[in-house]
Amino acid sequence: MAGSKTKDYYSTLGVKKTASADEIRKAFRKLARKYHPDVNPGDKKAEERFKEISEANDVLSDEKKRKIYDQVGFYSDNIDASAAEAYARGGAGHGGFQGFGGGAGQAQGVPFDFEGFDFSGFQGGGKNAARAEGFGSSFRDVFSGMFGGRGRQARGPQPGTDLEYQVEIDFWTAIRGGVTRLEIHRQEPCPACKGKAVTGGSMQCPECHGTGQVTQMGGRMKFSIQCPRCGGSGSVQNACPTCAGAGVVTRKEPLQFNIKPGTRDGQRIRLAGKGNAGTEGAPNGDLYLIIKVGAHKLFRRVGDDIHITVPVTAMEAALGSKIEVPTVDGVGAETGRATLRIPPGTQTGQKLRMREKGVASATREGLRGDQIVEVKIVVPQVQDERSKEILRELQRLNPQNPRAEMLAEV
Ligand SMILES: [Zn+2]
Ligand SMILES: [Zn+2]
Repeated sequence: MAGSKTKDYYSTLGVKKTASADEIRKAFRKLARKYHPDVNPGDKKAEERFKEISEANDVLSDEKKRKIYDQVGFYSDNIDASAAEAYARGGAGHGGFQGFGGGAGQAQGVPFDFEGFDFSGFQGGGKNAARAEGFGSSFRDVFSGMFGGRGRQARGPQPGTDLEYQVEIDFWTAIRGGVTRLEIHRQEPCPACKGKAVTGGSMQCPECHGTGQVTQMGGRMKFSIQCPRCGGSGSVQNACPTCAGAGVVTRKEPLQFNIKPGTRDGQRIRLAGKGNAGTEGAPNGDLYLIIKVGAHKLFRRVGDDIHITVPVTAMEAALGSKIEVPTVDGVGAETGRATLRIPPGTQTGQKLRMREKGVASATREGLRGDQIVEVKIVVPQVQDERSKEILRELQRLNPQNPRAEMLAEV
């Protein structure tokens, strides 16, 4: 039977079955240094050996894979941990395989054969092995778990994955729009193999000799499984050396795009087809840009509204006045100005709304946010006697206690 062998990963790495993860790692490193293709250029034997120790390390250095390997006697991505557990228990003679009819069969569409399968352990001498009753349910349970997953697929067109980048833009660019540049790293179809991941003509798979199936030993059982090397297709091709068989290469790409006026912080911009390239004609992924808008020392942006704190004298607030305040209107870094009416008796902390003096909406044409002005009253710092006298006079005329209400509460 082609490719029929049980690989002893422990002896491949020269460690005991009880070896710790650290011992396995050290053993692999030592062997890898010795057999690495870079230190043995052109040496096919070293290359083969390097592949073997890499495979052994791949399984033994992974706690979950190692457990399955220990329980079943080989490792395949198609075997899940619970199936391996069930198999290990069944194989130990707990009768998990009763009612089996013998010969080759099919469960859940996955072929396996039972050549060399020893039933005596399950049926007390094998006298019942000839009973042609088909599979018992317990048998099927074990195998459907073991081989229920989809087998490794042969390579085919793979759609590109999406990319996501955070883009920082300044306060003004977000409001007025503009052009932003950034550099992205994205996968493009490999120029050498045109995204096919392989070069040269195909040849018969050396692992399964073109059958697409290999046999693995699992304790006393022999399984036919899909050949992991060729994915069941029976033929292999050399991996493209330029892209190491990935079909894509990563390139830096300068990107320039327009920021719409009114763009908000946290906004997501989708550039269709600008993500990683698909292989063999499969579609590209998309590029998502997450906008991060910078701050401004005067203006604070809340959605399409602009918040600003404006100082007002006690007299302006008490008597009412018309003052000039900065707005986001204007050209370049220069801000615009607009007149705001302060009503008589305005208090500190009071908020006054300036309609449609905020940011023009990026999504709803013709709409504009407001500017919210928070009044901060500045008390006059009087030095001269005349001013002090006027303030004392003012106090006599307005003998109010602003704390009266507060004091009445306690
Ligand atoms: Zn390539
Ligand atoms: Zn094969």
